[in-house]
Amino acid sequence: MSTSTLPTKPPAAHSHLKDLDYSVVQQCMHCGLCLPTCPTYDATKLERNSPRGRISLMRAIADGRLEATKTFADEMYFCLGCLACMTACPAGVNYAELFEHARAEAEQSGVLKSPERSLLRAFTLRWLFMDQNRLQMVGFAMRLYQQLGLQSLLRASGFLKLLPRRLQELEAMTPPVQPGFSSDLISPVTSAVGPKKYRVAVLTGCAQDIIFSDVNRDTVEVLARNGCEVVTPPDQLCCGSLHAHNGEWEMAQQLARKQIDQFPPEQFDAIITNAAGCGSHLKHYAKLLEHDAAYHHRAELWDKKLKDIHEWLAQIGIVPPDSAGVPGQTVTYHEACHLCHGQKITAQPRQVLRAIPNLTLVELPESTWCCGSAGIYNLIQPEMAGELLDRKIKHIKTTQATIVATGNPGCLLQIINGARSQNLPLRVVHPITLLAEAYRKTP
Ligand code: SF4
Ligand code: SF4
Repeated sequence: MSTSTLPTKPPAAHSHLKDLDYSVVQQCMHCGLCLPTCPTYDATKLERNSPRGRISLMRAIADGRLEATKTFADEMYFCLGCLACMTACPAGVNYAELFEHARAEAEQSGVLKSPERSLLRAFTLRWLFMDQNRLQMVGFAMRLYQQLGLQSLLRASGFLKLLPRRLQELEAMTPPVQPGFSSDLISPVTSAVGPKKYRVAVLTGCAQDIIFSDVNRDTVEVLARNGCEVVTPPDQLCCGSLHAHNGEWEMAQQLARKQIDQFPPEQFDAIITNAAGCGSHLKHYAKLLEHDAAYHHRAELWDKKLKDIHEWLAQIGIVPPDSAGVPGQTVTYHEACHLCHGQKITAQPRQVLRAIPNLTLVELPESTWCCGSAGIYNLIQPEMAGELLDRKIKHIKTTQATIVATGNPGCLLQIINGARSQNLPLRVVHPITLLAEAYRKTP
């Protein structure tokens, strides 16, 4: 009998969790040591809202004992992805990898699909964040809306009060757009101040380019002051962290390849990011591209060259500025989850702050506890994010600091909003901005 007449079994559908290296899936030994560090478990005391509970669900899917249901998907989106559980875990469970694959599994199953959600994801993840020109177009429109006074007018008119409560909350969170994008503020190549010791590239990011282009400019200035020639091409792209954290694996891979092409790692001593959430993702391109024969080797080199700005400055030795911008100020430091848990960078930002003369660093209680920003978590889980923000602001108040420093755009925005809603006279700023200001006062 000809084999062509035999019924063919359809190929098994790809499953992110079933296809994941089983040594990652079965690593958890259920000790529960991570539970007290998990903000969602702390809030609900429910096992399924804990790292251990979530890992059990993921393993059940990997083992074929459970299908990805809506409850599973909701649970994965209730998780902040803060990675505090990874810091606490004595068994070295790679929750970051499990979490990304679990969200990808949730997306692939389609259990969360609705026309509104599909439209929103298509607009943001597949259109807006795949091309920086589009993002700048939206940024430009927002800038006009803010600069022409339309935002203030709408807010003062009371019209916004007619909108549903959720829309009012979202409008209140609209970040102020900078008067110029990164390419307006930074030359494609900036020479080192004094002798050139290193050649580095700076990633200007996607949202960072619109909302915190001033931090990008400060980063380039600080690097130049520390003996680096800085390459900052104007036409940069999103690093793909937003896509990987939201289950869009293939788009994240596509963006990673483009980054490697734009910044060939062999041409730089370091590739610098000043955004903790991006850095945590950018350092794992080799894993993301492990099955890509053309890119995997270059991705390994990329991962080695990728440095958070604080990490790089501490590594090369910070050139101390001569004077602080404003003498006698007190600063406290909030640790972005993806810096302290994702990259284990805790001492270096404090080193940067301590290098600034006349600035006193006061430690923040629970400095490593998530502020609720967590990528777009504050947009999709406003209640939990709000509780975490209140907790953070309460601790900030106890320090009596006038400045809060933090190394991630999402945390900056979240704490700015928290301070504004309570009318606190707080300056919320990236540590690198404080260092850049001190250098500007240095002759
Ligand atoms: S990533 Fe954060 S919220 Fe999610 S399980 Fe771990 S500690 Fe909990
Ligand atoms: S994730 Fe780590 S700390 Fe948490 S239960 Fe599993 S082994 Fe224990």
